[in-house]
Amino acid sequence: MSQINTLIKPTHNCNLRCNYCFHEKYGYEKKLLDMNKLKKYIDLLSENYKYINLVWHGGEALTVSLDYYEEIYNYCDSKNSKFMFSVQTNGTLLTPKIVNFFNRTNTNIGLSFDGLNNELMRRHTYETLEGIKLLQKNNYNPGAIIVINQNNVKNLINEVTYSANDYINEIDNKIYSITNVEDNLDKAYIEVNKLKEEFKRNFLCYNLDEYDKSYKKILLIEGCIIKNKEKIDNIKKNLNSTKKTNKEILTRVKKLNSQKKTLQ
Ligand code: SF4
Repeated sequence: MSQINTLIKPTHNCNLRCNYCFHEKYGYEKKLLDMNKLKKYIDLLSENYKYINLVWHGGEALTVSLDYYEEIYNYCDSKNSKFMFSVQTNGTLLTPKIVNFFNRTNTNIGLSFDGLNNELMRRHTYETLEGIKLLQKNNYNPGAIIVINQNNVKNLINEVTYSANDYINEIDNKIYSITNVEDNLDKAYIEVNKLKEEFKRNFLCYNLDEYDKSYKKILLIEGCIIKNKEKIDNIKKNLNSTKKTNKEILTRVKKLNSQKKTLQ
């Protein structure tokens, strides 16, 4: 046989602690797979196979430094076999430097992301979404592995149909009438901040443009509320200082009056 696919775990270390992670049982050991052992494994593979597909897995494969990968990619290059690379990642540690390295080495990137249930099962949804954005900016269109379990199996239809429009309607309903009435502004400010957090936590990002559009709308509304609150605060401040001056004048007048009476 001239081709083999093989999965390598250079580490058991991970920066997340997902609810269902089997690594928990064994601990998230930071020790790296010994480079010499890995090179011997590459030797063995290249002696027997012409096409070799290596998948970097973990733990979280991106807790391992780029130097480690540089060294082993160079070693693979020195062999006669043709190597292809992929990495499976939770996406939260992606940086422009890492993406650039994978781009340069034609490494495929797969994400682990649980969609609408991500925050429940894995948390760090916002960081994963930022990772996806970065990949898309660099012309990656990553697929994702989703863990299906009894908590999310019923939601699979919602996963597909949920869209940013649901959020836009929700914002419009929640921010009802933003008038100059103080109470409403305070309420609206609390609501918009709750919504912001909710949006970051739960939004499923099939379309990042939609995500951006909706999130910008929330920020815009928040900006309007803050501006209006500032206006009201200034009016209140002015009123208070006028009240204080009026009170002082009144006290002075009363004092003068009583002095006048005494003189008479
Ligand atoms: S990202 Fe993977 S390795 Fe890390 S905690 Fe979650 S399931 Fe476990």
